[in-house]
Amino acid sequence: MDSLYGMAPAELAGALSLFPAYRARQVYRWLARGAASFDQMSDLPASERGRLSALYPSIPSSAPGAELADEDGSLKLQIRLADGAAVECVLLEDLEGRKTACLSCQVGCPMGCAFCKTGSLGYLRDLSAGEIMEQFHFLSLRRGPISNVVFMGMGEPMANLGAVRKAISVLSDGVGMSLRKITISTSGLVPGILELAQAGPAVRLAVSLTAADEELRSSLMPVNKTYGLGSLKAALASYQAATGERITLECAIMGGVNASAMSARSLLDWIGSLKVQVNVIPWNKVPGLPFSEPSRQELESFMSVLEAAGVVASRRMRRGRGVMGACGQLGDTLKY
Ligand code: SF4
Repeated sequence: MDSLYGMAPAELAGALSLFPAYRARQVYRWLARGAASFDQMSDLPASERGRLSALYPSIPSSAPGAELADEDGSLKLQIRLADGAAVECVLLEDLEGRKTACLSCQVGCPMGCAFCKTGSLGYLRDLSAGEIMEQFHFLSLRRGPISNVVFMGMGEPMANLGAVRKAISVLSDGVGMSLRKITISTSGLVPGILELAQAGPAVRLAVSLTAADEELRSSLMPVNKTYGLGSLKAALASYQAATGERITLECAIMGGVNASAMSARSLLDWIGSLKVQVNVIPWNKVPGLPFSEPSRQELESFMSVLEAAGVVASRRMRRGRGVMGACGQLGDTLKY
């Protein structure tokens, strides 16, 4: 059975034998606020609190492990799951104090992107919606209210879309977070993008593009061998038509690999009429992976090609870097 934090009111009613019907909604609201025990649920009758506490002395199915705080304010948290597996999640705080939870959706990742620590670990299993929500609550317990969520931690959200959708439903309906504050980041699994375009929820979409050259992208991201740049662009156009939203293209830039002005120009050609924002992310060093960080000059010339063409582009700050909690670095404390 899933952790209670991922359940809709109707599921809670069934799983906990809650009656009358409004009781499930009461429990749902407490869980969405991160309540860790039924004793906290002060609007339930005492007898009901006692019955439920006996069933669940502690509600979370997972437990927080090692915590690493970076001097830039980021916090990386290891989570030990009920079956002994582990994932990591990160709380990032920007200069305005906005807090973003970067959540994992799988133990490891099956996508095997060459530049990513998580990809190098392999894949063990999917997380349930409740296990995803528990990361959110553990982070919020430590750092206070969270304004944004990005599914950009360990795993490919489109490969576990059912659980990710359920977690989004709790974030939106239970926690009260606007869908515009929630981002799914994918490596480019086209069927998931199309499904989301058709059936929602209309969250923000980010794609780890990395390179707009077919051969180079296939060598860095195996997903491109199945869903090449043409089908990816068509799927993004469908998503844009369905939501009207700008799509974020993430480009992790590695020195001497995809950092040239020519790479930037092929990116421009590929973007064409798509409405995008490009996040240029200087690749974060991962011990054992055969890439290097880009030079300042490489980054500047890459950015200047995009800017000269009027593309909305930003250079993402390397938050969380000091604790290996930055993009592509998650998983260094784990072994499968
Ligand atoms: S970049 Fe994302 S999709 Fe690719 S291996 Fe890493 S976690 Fe998986």
